[in-house]
Amino acid sequence: METILFTFILISAILFFFRSFSRTTQIFKISKPEDRSYNKLQRIKNTISIALLQSKLFKKKFAGILHALIFWGFLVLLLVIIEDFLEAYINNFSFSFTGKFYNLITITQDLFSLTVTVAVLISLFRRYIFTPSRLKTERESKIDAAIILVWIFLIMITTFGSNIERIKLNTSEGIRPISEFLARIISGDGSYEMYKIYWWCHNILILGFLNYLPYSKHFHIISSVPNTFFSNYRIEPKNVINPLNLEDETVQHFGIKDIKDFTWKGLLDSYTCTECGRCTEACPANKTGKKLNPKLIITNTRKRISDSAMFFINKEETNPIYKKSLVPNYTTQEELWACTTCGACTEECPVMIEHLNYITGMRMYLTMMESDFPSELNTLYKNLENNGSPWAFDPEERNRWITEFILECETERIRSSLIKLSEPEGKDKIEIIYWVGCAGALDTRYVNVTKSFAKILSKAGVRFGVLGNEEKCNGDTARRLGNEYLAQEFIKANIETFKKYSIKKIVTTCPHCYNSLKNEYPKFGIDLEVYHHSEYINKLLNERKFIPKTSGKITEI
Ligand code: SF4
Ligand code: SF4
Repeated sequence: METILFTFILISAILFFFRSFSRTTQIFKISKPEDRSYNKLQRIKNTISIALLQSKLFKKKFAGILHALIFWGFLVLLLVIIEDFLEAYINNFSFSFTGKFYNLITITQDLFSLTVTVAVLISLFRRYIFTPSRLKTERESKIDAAIILVWIFLIMITTFGSNIERIKLNTSEGIRPISEFLARIISGDGSYEMYKIYWWCHNILILGFLNYLPYSKHFHIISSVPNTFFSNYRIEPKNVINPLNLEDETVQHFGIKDIKDFTWKGLLDSYTCTECGRCTEACPANKTGKKLNPKLIITNTRKRISDSAMFFINKEETNPIYKKSLVPNYTTQEELWACTTCGACTEECPVMIEHLNYITGMRMYLTMMESDFPSELNTLYKNLENNGSPWAFDPEERNRWITEFILECETERIRSSLIKLSEPEGKDKIEIIYWVGCAGALDTRYVNVTKSFAKILSKAGVRFGVLGNEEKCNGDTARRLGNEYLAQEFIKANIETFKKYSIKKIVTTCPHCYNSLKNEYPKFGIDLEVYHHSEYINKLLNERKFIPKTSGKITEI
């Protein structure tokens, strides 16, 4: 009878779980496709290091250790769950047939049960008494965290309870130091009935926990491993915005307005957020008092999914909730325009959520579909269109540092290592192109960096080419603001210039130019060998092309 009852509960719980799981995830049916199947080896490495070994969590040592202990403890306790389920069918079932290995299993289980219990109590204390600012969250989320933590605590208590009763009844196998200690200090004889009560409570708690997950932010227990596998962490090319085909007249919509505009990875990201707040803590915009909170960008997307998924799936287009949209009803323009696109949020996220893709996607929608952007950007776009740089400088000004550099050069040898591509002489001797960038050519302070690097190249005997006023903004500023039309104009114009001079090898002092030229330009059909100036200086030093003089903290060339 007991076996029939348990089987009924087990099958019902599993079926109910799959029903909830498929209801929660059916929104994926309307998501956009995206290929994340390449570079499987790096993806496996990421999964082992980030999801299984929890490496990113240890950036915050205390919280990281707590979380890792709970996570690893659960993995170890999976064997207890299997033993308990099988016991319903095979009297007193255990893995003791594994011999001495079983002692190792039971000792580990017992120690982890204690560790998880303590970690849960400390986590409750941190969540509700001494709460770090990054964990402060709305009431609903607090209740959810409390339910989960208390649930795990009860699972541990019932694990110990059934162990203690077994030990007292002399039916326990293996070595369980903590449970044996507790059995000694808790008075009374063992009782089979008490053991059965613990056994039932334990199994029902486990099955209940499984069924609560699809309705909780702790869905990340299921989704974080695949989310990490499919993230593009340490997968080249990094930080890339995929180009839009602006020539395709059938495309009517650009960017992210609502949940239907996400790829499946975007939706998976929103289900995976643990609300740990690490992204917000790292966000410079949030730290300087802006409204932007990267955690809310993700959790508000999840809220939008939960509010509207059914209307999207059933195409109930007249429903008032359907008629709302993620931008601006859940995420506002003020939040989106505050982002500096630094990527710190994604770097810090322990479950590999890619906030920046969604922020730039939503900006793209606002810019390209609604022409809705801050008025300050009008000046920027005007400058880009008229001057080829974000500022109101005449393009001719890009030649000024070159003239100054030549005048300041101490020797003819140094002077002659710089070759202007627009001039007829010397192009055949060029080893590399120095791509200066807008700030490098036009910003008074940055020009000093440009001249210093040019001097290093000259001293090292490198003959380098410069484009002067033929160089234009690399397009990064417009792209990160969501203005793909303007960005592609710059990218195409620069590629034409590269082709005109058969440019293949570039060094740059600008990090934005470096990322664009190295990682994004290849998507527009050109392959360039791109160095950051720090890489190139390192290369020259290794080749002993020049030897800097150091005196104290000052290095001279
Ligand atoms: S990319 Fe934007 S949201 Fe993320 S940390 Fe930087 S400023 Fe904040
Ligand atoms: S997005 Fe990542 S870092 Fe931010 S709260 Fe969610 S899980 Fe934590």
